[in-house]
Amino acid sequence: MVDAGIAPIYDAITEEGAQWFLKTIGILGGMSAASTQIYYRTLCTLARERLGGLHSPELLIRSLDFSRIERLQVADEWERAGDILNAEARSLERGGADLLILATNTMHKLADRMMRGVSIPLLHIADATAASICRKRLRRPGLMATAFTMEQAFYTDRLVMAGLDPVIPEVSDRALTHRIIYEELCRDIVTKESRAVFMAIAQRLVDRGADCLILGCTEVGMLLDQGNVRVPVFDTTQVHCEAAFAAALNA
Ligand code: GLU
Repeated sequence: MVDAGIAPIYDAITEEGAQWFLKTIGILGGMSAASTQIYYRTLCTLARERLGGLHSPELLIRSLDFSRIERLQVADEWERAGDILNAEARSLERGGADLLILATNTMHKLADRMMRGVSIPLLHIADATAASICRKRLRRPGLMATAFTMEQAFYTDRLVMAGLDPVIPEVSDRALTHRIIYEELCRDIVTKESRAVFMAIAQRLVDRGADCLILGCTEVGMLLDQGNVRVPVFDTTQVHCEAAFAAALNA
């Protein structure tokens, strides 16, 4: 949905020559800013690779100050964080987004609250990831994510509902993963020491029977990828962007 004032201009341009019409993806991001930059770059790459020419995605990016959100997480004030997401989702809809993506796994804990009174669809990151794993006929994904995502039911239940049997790291590996996400990756800090730590945690999940690995935090791809993990890797940022791009193209 485009503002009534510019809709006719858009329609005219589309009819004139555009081979493709892309719906507008609303990205609710900034959680963290490091991963929202990856979303932007990935979606631009997908448009260029799939459509060629000068194509680029139609996006509305709302990037929040993550410090504000992280304080609410730590204070266990999730409902207030949910109300912020809800206000932002509504404003993305008013601004012309046709569909929404929430560019963080953790904040999907609040997906229902975020979507109250919003009529455009939310493309849920866990559903997109589960679908992608099921398509490859894999079943036991290891999950590396924030402690919230690994330990609370909102995410793993969704994977179980899709027929998967997630394996989460042992307690000390969970703490380490969580710390590296918040103290390094969300601040755009990438070190070879932390990459080695993440590789070892991933391997311990494989040793415990994981047949694939979910990079279940939108920054984990800064350290792990198919080149340094032995089992198939599902990077939620990549999977989410691909699902959103497909929806923008076909919906
Ligand atoms: N981007 C992260 C995730 O995918 C963590 C930051 C947050 O708590 O939102 O879960």
